[in-house]
Amino acid sequence: MSQEAPGRVAVVTGGASGIGLGVVRHLRAAGHQVAALDLQDDALAAAAADLDVLTAQVDVSDRTAVDAAMDRVRSELGPISIIVTSAGIDGNKPFAEISADDWERTLRVNLTGTFNAVQSAVPDLVAGGWGRIITISSSSAQQGAGNRAHYIASKGGVIALTKALSYEYAPLGITANTIPPSIIDTPMSRDSPEMGAHLDAVAGMTPVRRLGTPDDIGAAAAFLASDAAGFITGQQINVNGGWYM
Ligand code: NAP
Repeated sequence: MSQEAPGRVAVVTGGASGIGLGVVRHLRAAGHQVAALDLQDDALAAAAADLDVLTAQVDVSDRTAVDAAMDRVRSELGPISIIVTSAGIDGNKPFAEISADDWERTLRVNLTGTFNAVQSAVPDLVAGGWGRIITISSSSAQQGAGNRAHYIASKGGVIALTKALSYEYAPLGITANTIPPSIIDTPMSRDSPEMGAHLDAVAGMTPVRRLGTPDDIGAAAAFLASDAAGFITGQQINVNGGWYM
């Protein structure tokens, strides 16, 4: 049995809220040092106080800001080994009503934001000869759903990007996997105009008869970030209670 190397450095985008915060909790519990990058300043401050994590207020679609945050992580915590991308925005509109701005903004945050964070961190993973890239996509991109074509296209891009990275980086000791959650009980799903009022019904239709939680995703991400998951790459790790949406 190999021993888990303690205290690797992990960066989690969207780490102040919902799924990202669940991932931060589980990576901290696994003994890693964690930096949480997010737009939400107050929530970042709360995470820093509760979980002893480095925080940086960053828009992941702003490459200069992302690069500056990664440099801060390197100088304060050391080389990055684990990058988890959870920062994202929702989208709820019929296809015919999606404006060019809606489309561009959703792709810029969800897909380009993932590209920015991973590309900015990955030189450390390569230099260390060990790394974990974990993206948060969406089961809606596996199954399709109405009234969210821009969101679903962005998350389909995240799945495809992750698969591409798995091929390129596997020979260098770096795995790349995506977790496509179904409905998880977070501020995003509670605020959703389509889903927010129907979460109890969603829970009832889910085979496990409950909504997913940020801890469900955090536990899976912590496993993917571990030494034990070194032979898993290029995969969509479905954490969805048996339900695709
Ligand atoms: P959440 O609670 O809203 O958390 C997302 C965090 O990312 C928020 O703190 C948000 O800040 C931040 N963020 C948004 N845009 C950002 C940007 N440009 N730069 C940096 N941070 C930014 O949502 P969640 O439910 O945990 O979602 C996390 C990820 O899971 C998202 O990518 C989402 O698409 C995906 N997902 C969620 C579900 C679900 O049911 N909840 C299902 C499938 C996939 P603001 O609040 O200020 O925007």
